[in-house]
Amino acid sequence: MSDLKLHNTLSKSKEGFVALDPAHVRIYVCGPTVYDRAHIGNARPVIVFDVLVRLLRRLYPRVTYVRNITDVDDKINAKAKASGRPIAEITAETTKLFHEDMALLGALPPDIEPRATAHIAQMIAMIQSLIEQGHAYEAEGHVLFHVASMADYGKLSGRSRDEMIAGARVEVAPYKKDAADFVLWKPSTDDLPGWDSPWGRGRPGWHIECSAMSREYLGESFDIHGGGQDLIFPHHENEIAQSECCNHAPFARFWLHNGFLKVGGEKMSKSIGNILSVHQLLGEAPGEAIRFAVLSAHYRQPLDWTDEGLKAAKSALDRLYRALETAPKARAAANVPETVLAALMDDLNTPLAISHLHEVASALNKASDQSEKDRLAGELLAAGALMGLLQNDPKGWLQGAGNEGVSEIEALIEQRIAAKKAKDFALADRIRDDLKAKGILLEDGPGGTSWRKL
Ligand SMILES: [Zn+2]
Repeated sequence: MSDLKLHNTLSKSKEGFVALDPAHVRIYVCGPTVYDRAHIGNARPVIVFDVLVRLLRRLYPRVTYVRNITDVDDKINAKAKASGRPIAEITAETTKLFHEDMALLGALPPDIEPRATAHIAQMIAMIQSLIEQGHAYEAEGHVLFHVASMADYGKLSGRSRDEMIAGARVEVAPYKKDAADFVLWKPSTDDLPGWDSPWGRGRPGWHIECSAMSREYLGESFDIHGGGQDLIFPHHENEIAQSECCNHAPFARFWLHNGFLKVGGEKMSKSIGNILSVHQLLGEAPGEAIRFAVLSAHYRQPLDWTDEGLKAAKSALDRLYRALETAPKARAAANVPETVLAALMDDLNTPLAISHLHEVASALNKASDQSEKDRLAGELLAAGALMGLLQNDPKGWLQGAGNEGVSEIEALIEQRIAAKKAKDFALADRIRDDLKAKGILLEDGPGGTSWRKL
């Protein structure tokens, strides 16, 4: 039993978290569809649930975190067709880039990362069971979930039937018994990926993969299911329908959803052309500053992404690292400051936790005694670790490390040393002046050349 409180979309209220099995907490989060580089909106749930998992790991002896990879999807098929590249190549490459981008944002990998295409048999078994139990039916090579067969369908989103049909933008197809029924399996033509099934060669609908893979790795009932707010309906509503009708057991106990992310006040969209990829942002700021900017808003609130917000995040981190720099020998304390922990325990209030980080930094800056400084820096480091922050070397950070430019600067310094040795002083001076123009100051001293940001 802990004092952790989480907002549960299912009850629409903040509840005390009670683990189904305190010896083993289980969490599932919907992962990316791998056809394009992740944008900052995709990164938000990854960062938010990374903080939750870090907190759960502090509270419970064992946590299993599953996040899937959707590698069968019509958007992937369309990309393969447009680019002429094989699907497997696109999904493998996009998965690798996703891993790289998320690691730079300080997100720890999930314990299990199942791919949809490796779990088709589990999906077919679940669909078969739903048909046998009268919750699904086959029609013209499709298998559909019959929404009317579930008495409490709609309990997560709380939508009316008409709103559901409009929200799901479901096709009114002649083979459907009811417009609200959704696809579990659909036929594939020869040019599309497909698997043999009792209903002919085809491929799964999107929702069934999460029901099948969460059951495979976490069991029929587990503690927490997370994702973006946009997934509440229809994706999560349909996951509940499939899982509970198949298993006759409650599915996830807690449903957590992060709010929308906008860019400059507008929804990100291809047509506006304001989609910000994580990769692009990593060229502008260190991953930790991006993470900090995401955590500056409470996860349930909408987050408006702006250049100013990212700059403010970077300078807030600079301030925290400057405080840490005054206690270079400090190591993370065993205990996180009570204020920071209490903020996180209250439905992951990261903005409040961040304000407490600043309080610790202020106390650290004011402390005159070095052992007191070391103690406060140790607390700051422990709190930072819990949030996936402040784990860089302060000196390196303040010099600009964390930016991709560091190795470039080091390489230029090497070039300048070589130029000096070759008595090409014109080149050596030019390298120094070029770096200065970019805001990097070189300092020659007895120990060699060091550099810092102007
Ligand atoms: Zn899902």
